[in-house]
Amino acid sequence: MSADRALSELPGVGPQLAGRLAGLGLVRESDLLFHLPLRFEDRTRLTPLNQVRPGTGVQVEGRIVHRDIRYGRTRMLVATLADDTGQISLRLFRFYPSQLKLFSEGQRLRCFGEVRLSPGGLEMAHPQCQSLKDGESPPLPDSLTPVYPTTQGLGQARLAGMIAATLSRLKSGQLDLVELLPEDHPAIGLRDALTVIHSPPPGEDLEALTEGHHPAVQRLALEELLAHHLALARVNRARAQQRAPALSDPHGKVAQLLAALPFRPTGAQLRVIEEIRADLSREMPMRRLLQGDVGSGKTVVAAAALVTATAAGHQAAIVAPTEILAEQHFRTLSEYLAPLGIEPVWLAGKVQGRARTEALERLAGDAAVAIGTHALFQKAVAFRELALVIVDEQHRFGVHQRLALADKGRKGTHQPHQLVMTATPIPRTLAMTAYAGLDVSVIDELPPGRKPVTTVAASQQRRGEVIERLVRALREKRQAYWVCPLIEESEVLEAEAAETRSQELARQLTEFRVGLIHGRMKPADKQAVMAAFSAGEIHLLVATTVIEVGVDVPNASLMIIENAERLGLSQLHQLRGRVGRGSDQAACVLLYKPPLGETARARLEVMRETTDGFVIAEKDLQLRGPGEVLGTRQTGALRFRIADLTRDEALLDRVEQLADRVDGQQARQLIERWIGPAEQFVDVG
Ligand code: ADP
Ligand code: MG
Repeated sequence: MSADRALSELPGVGPQLAGRLAGLGLVRESDLLFHLPLRFEDRTRLTPLNQVRPGTGVQVEGRIVHRDIRYGRTRMLVATLADDTGQISLRLFRFYPSQLKLFSEGQRLRCFGEVRLSPGGLEMAHPQCQSLKDGESPPLPDSLTPVYPTTQGLGQARLAGMIAATLSRLKSGQLDLVELLPEDHPAIGLRDALTVIHSPPPGEDLEALTEGHHPAVQRLALEELLAHHLALARVNRARAQQRAPALSDPHGKVAQLLAALPFRPTGAQLRVIEEIRADLSREMPMRRLLQGDVGSGKTVVAAAALVTATAAGHQAAIVAPTEILAEQHFRTLSEYLAPLGIEPVWLAGKVQGRARTEALERLAGDAAVAIGTHALFQKAVAFRELALVIVDEQHRFGVHQRLALADKGRKGTHQPHQLVMTATPIPRTLAMTAYAGLDVSVIDELPPGRKPVTTVAASQQRRGEVIERLVRALREKRQAYWVCPLIEESEVLEAEAAETRSQELARQLTEFRVGLIHGRMKPADKQAVMAAFSAGEIHLLVATTVIEVGVDVPNASLMIIENAERLGLSQLHQLRGRVGRGSDQAACVLLYKPPLGETARARLEVMRETTDGFVIAEKDLQLRGPGEVLGTRQTGALRFRIADLTRDEALLDRVEQLADRVDGQQARQLIERWIGPAEQFVDVG
């Protein structure tokens, strides 16, 4: 018996190979076994050449009866392989001298490859061949051959060999991988599951294996989900030990704030404000996720939380992912908070020199509220008594940044309360896992008088009509956005495209003022443009996707999005959410470049059919998969090896039942096996 070893300790695994394996997430021996095949090849049989059919992968054995080298643009090798029943062509579009020998006349070969029909008859391109001595016919494997996802510099044969060796060590008992699911659970055992997955017998349901519906794969997914569930439960227990300052609002400042607003808060806003008030009044740190569709009025809720937190002399901060959004918060919240005599401190990367020194002094001194970008996370920033951190549109932040801000308020065992606001509605399956450490509040009601944005999709050939429509809207004193999204993965090109478009539109629309905003402009210039647009001095704002998040100009009621086929659903939804904030009927035109691919067509269809953020998020999940929906590339959360939340949703109930039945030791081992010792994935906040 031996425990799970690090792969770098295995004989023959040098630092370079270990590095490549680690790139695939393979660090320990057991990881090899959780690396699942992409597909399988059937090498258990030999197919007589007269029974070979096009479109299938087959294994054949025969003798080279003819070989030809053809000279065209490149050299090509074509050989004819024959057995007693028939023959087939083998074609190599490029080859090495060693292969010349392998394919020489008279040579006996065993070949595996995909068969296709060419003008000259059946052929295999680039078959995998093994040379055989006369009379020799090595035994055939009795299970199917797995093909694994691999990486540059790590050959399929090498990786498959390592996995096969580990599997046989498991089967012989040399590698000890203990069963961690409770004994009587109805799933298939770990060792059996791994054996079927890596060496399925002929006749096994291969589609179920590769798609993951097979009981063996489901069993692993169940274990993995259980491990994540247990890890989060552990985090929640740790959180219950933490302390935070209990905050209250004895003089009714929140009521004062709400009374001074130019509108009446919706029932949903009031309910959520109350939920947050209750959290803040406890000595346990709040960890709350506030979900509210675009335009649902999260800013007022944030203001109420800031006021509650600072009523008794503590400090509170709100952080946004982009400077434009942070500035907008600064403007709006400064207005909301002014009647209470609160003057927020502004801090962003571009605040330098005297302004910065002053801001830092106020934060260390008597300032109540700080508003800014990630600049608030910097080392040099010290708060006097930070008691609440609000993060807007949090999935754009990395976990580490978020932790850094929490650290700012850490005093001994005391932590600041945290509120995370997101406009990306999170489907139930994701909320249960990625955000399982958080309590959730939902603003499920839009301010009164909003009419859903009407949405049309139009081919860019109909641009002329779209411009006429734009002119009509502008003449009615409405304002509009024209968005030019990413041309390629380049902010520079995106900015250039927007610049060109704004010049072009300015020439066409001489009676109106056309503004431009993109990510590469100086913050002061961006701010000036946004202010002019808010004030109605700019009629049409040409923008890159920088306006995607949070920008709020209620008089803007027409949104035109170019190259809409390139954007994801949640991005389109965010962009569209910039209009329909006032009482005018708003419209959104999705300009696309034909022909439309299948996914793009489906996305535009969804956008035309619904404005409900939850429906859109569910569709997004179906079309893209969970990692993308949450933007977890950035946060590093939610990386499953085997489980797939869309596919495995049905397992979640069983995960909860099993969680009650594993003991502490099993829980530790499960977390160790699937997540590793560091638990760095978990968002402890
Ligand atoms: P979110 O951040 O959730 O997308 P905002 O907080 O920016 O939404 O609010 C969107 C718009 O709705 C703003 O113009 C805001 O002034 C307005 N608003 C917010 N709450 C209400 C309300 N209860 N009644 C009317 N208008 C509201
Ligand atoms: Mg907002």
